[in-house]
Amino acid sequence: MSKPNVAILGLGIMGSGMAHRLLSASFPLAVYNRNREKCIPFGDAGASIAATPREAASRSEIILSMVGDDTASRDVWLGEDGALAGASPGSVLIESSTLSGDWIHELASKAADRGCRFLDAPVTGTKPHAASGQLLFLVGGSAEALDAARPVFSVLGRDTVHLGPVGSGALMKLINNFVCGVQAASFGEAVSMIEAGGLDRIKAMSILTGGAPGSGIVKRVADQVAANEFTPNFKLKWMAKDLAYALHEASSKGISLQTAAAALSVFQRAIAEGHGDEDFSAVSKTSKLPSNS
Ligand code: NAP
Repeated sequence: MSKPNVAILGLGIMGSGMAHRLLSASFPLAVYNRNREKCIPFGDAGASIAATPREAASRSEIILSMVGDDTASRDVWLGEDGALAGASPGSVLIESSTLSGDWIHELASKAADRGCRFLDAPVTGTKPHAASGQLLFLVGGSAEALDAARPVFSVLGRDTVHLGPVGSGALMKLINNFVCGVQAASFGEAVSMIEAGGLDRIKAMSILTGGAPGSGIVKRVADQVAANEFTPNFKLKWMAKDLAYALHEASSKGISLQTAAAALSVFQRAIAEGHGDEDFSAVSKTSKLPSNS
């Protein structure tokens, strides 16, 4: 069976791994990235480089966006040069960035106006999972659109979970990352207490990671702290973004996520201290009280 033409919009940490996977599986691929330099290695590997999201979309039957936040997603989909303007009716539009429910619903409605099928399909997994096709896709949208997108999901992911109508994948992802963000922030505060109390850091962290608090996310942060390695797999500023979107989503449903609000303030302080583009585990660097308090 011939492979569909695919476009990837956004060649950051996640989008670049996904694009590599598709090229390795011999999909005809168009790539777009705001900073064009990031496209060059993909062009060398056989992708066609598009000057605009519109151009990438006009060459493709399946168009997948993997960009930072709502603003970035608006920038790649909307406007004269945006992907929606180039997408043919019937094509499948996939938004895999972690975004707010409000924007996902607005984008889905614009896709429908254009006669396109739409899926929100954010992912769990991080840089190595994107590069090795081991992501888990959390999908909202019609079963028919999901079936049309399966050839792509099966190369990029280990599984897809269909959670319900448009917005369901985005909501699940925000709930997932709210729980991750709270745990990471609390572990960061624990590291401060360990240091302030003069405990052996490695011994103390191994008690936490080997015991009841040792969730996958806590182990991941502990490994980074032990190695003093904060090169991003998942940028701290994006975890703060996810907590902010989760808070907004919850409050629109009459729910107050008090632990998310506390975690967000810890991440915001880390951003103010210059750690926003480091791995989110750098939240462990920021839990000391400001010196004037
Ligand atoms: P990243 O490395 O920071 O890449 C961000 C991408 O968005 C880049 O291609 C960037 O383009 C583009 N971008 C940002 N602002 C833009 C704008 N205004 N207009 C057009 N393009 C814009 O981020 P990432 O780690 O790949 O994450 C991408 C998405 O996946 C985020 O929503 C994140 O929350 C989510 N996610 C990440 C992970 C992870 O472990 N990294 C895991 C699950 C989900 P430039 O290169 O031009 O800046």
